[in-house]
Amino acid sequence: MPVPDIIAIDGPAASGKSTIGKKLADELGFLFFDTGVMYRAVTWAALSAGVDLDDEAEITRLAQTADIDILPPTVPDGRNCDILLDGKDITWEIRQGEVDRNVSLVSAYRGVRTALSNQQRRIGLRGRVVMVGRDIGTDVMPEAPLKIYLVASAEERARRRWVEQHQRGGGAGYPEILAAIHARDEFDSTRAVSPLRPAPDAVIVDTDQMTVDEVFDKVWALVREMERS
Ligand code: C5P
Repeated sequence: MPVPDIIAIDGPAASGKSTIGKKLADELGFLFFDTGVMYRAVTWAALSAGVDLDDEAEITRLAQTADIDILPPTVPDGRNCDILLDGKDITWEIRQGEVDRNVSLVSAYRGVRTALSNQQRRIGLRGRVVMVGRDIGTDVMPEAPLKIYLVASAEERARRRWVEQHQRGGGAGYPEILAAIHARDEFDSTRAVSPLRPAPDAVIVDTDQMTVDEVFDKVWALVREMERS
């Protein structure tokens, strides 16, 4: 089999999906597609328009009409890509604490998921893509030949997020980050529509005691293994 041309990487918040997915996509010359940015963009749109986040119908309408674009990076500030909403660059706005705290609520709405996952699937079906998210292996691209599910303890994920935010200058304190991660884990894995869980045929990689390079080597070996089989 040639290199699997759709690679799905799922896992909980801050489990390293984006870091590993981006590195893998660059190495393979594939598109890196972080689907979480779409849920974040809709959440940011709702917050900045002052929409009541409990108003499912209005949030769904926003998800159906928002023009979200993901383009190669134009600013060398550590971003993986430019995220545009109706033409406005919101790459860093969608990483704000307020978005972190509310994105799980927005992404649990069925209409929001349908609107966004249809767009994601359309892009995924073009192939040569590494897609990262929560439900790529289970719902968006269940036919992906290689599915990876990254896990790490909440404490380790909070530590990594803290380091990342402080390298960019600023960010919340560790206890606050840890609490937000716990809350998001709970929300994402217990929601009725497409809850966070590994696909039955996903390879689970526990990254707790591993460096980024070690995780990458492990994932790279899985790609090569599939190529040989
Ligand atoms: O991956 P990231 O932390 O940026 O995702 C933000 C949120 O978007 C997640 O906590 C989850 O609620 C939602 N999400 C999702 N399905 C995806 C990607 C993200 O529900 N495929």
